[in-house]
Amino acid sequence: MDYPGNLFVVAAPSGAGKSSLVKALLELDSLVHPSISHTTRAPRGQEKHGREYFFASESEFDAMVEGNAFVEWALVHGNRYGTSKKAIEERIAQGSDVILEIDFQGALQIKKAFANAVLVFILPPSWDELRSRLERRGEDSPEVIERRLKNAAVEMEQVHKFDFVIINELFERALFDLKAVVHAQRLKYAAQRRARADTFESLNIT
Ligand code: GDP
Ligand code: ADP
Ligand code: 5GP
Repeated sequence: MDYPGNLFVVAAPSGAGKSSLVKALLELDSLVHPSISHTTRAPRGQEKHGREYFFASESEFDAMVEGNAFVEWALVHGNRYGTSKKAIEERIAQGSDVILEIDFQGALQIKKAFANAVLVFILPPSWDELRSRLERRGEDSPEVIERRLKNAAVEMEQVHKFDFVIINELFERALFDLKAVVHAQRLKYAAQRRARADTFESLNIT
């Protein structure tokens, strides 16, 4: 499928800093829009329906799967998460950039549906640091942290299937790297040809 907008897909083991990096990018770059996923997990403290996620019951989620409403969906840490077609297709068709913050299974499904999607994997600098970030975040019980660390080993095995790798050691450096990936896509021939059509014309480039 061809479309003018870029589709960025960011995956990482829980605690690597994916949400913090994507949030910082969204605040800096108003041309990038988040895709809001559906999930069957319960909302956490401050989360609002339609902002962080569309929270769905098991049966609502089933109905969307049946109705072919998802580009991808996956079971992650015991809950189902999915990207609806509606969340991305309209935006990229209009030429906007859309960023998805999803697990690696979903990222690989997206690449099958959208061959031009740009897949970015965020790695933590070490196992010790990953554990201490999960502990410091204070969102999860010790059992949940152990489960997420076990899953992290499986997830990180998939990094070779991604286009870009960012190691989130110093946050500002990792954010710079993420901005560079986004910026580089906008410098590609097809994107420049569209965005700067007048310049190409004035240079008589056919
Ligand atoms: P987090 O680990 O603190 O980010 O907890 P969340 O409950 O917000 O997300 C759990 C996992 O589900 C993370 O790995 C997310 O990237 C992933 N996830 C979120 N939305 C989607 C989605 O639409 N599709 C898929 N496949 N995974 C998703
Ligand atoms: P994810 O979305 O990948 O699960 P978060 O963005 O929630 O990860 O980050 C996990 C924790 O680590 C948060 O408390 C966050 O503030 C912290 N964190 C993120 N990046 C860094 C970094 N480069 N250095 C230190 N702490 C970080
Ligand atoms: P508030 O307005 O509550 O202070 O914050 C909204 C924040 O949520 C903003 O920083 C915005 O970037 C972020 N945000 C909004 N929608 C999404 C989304 O779908 N995914 C993610 N990761 N962040 C979002």
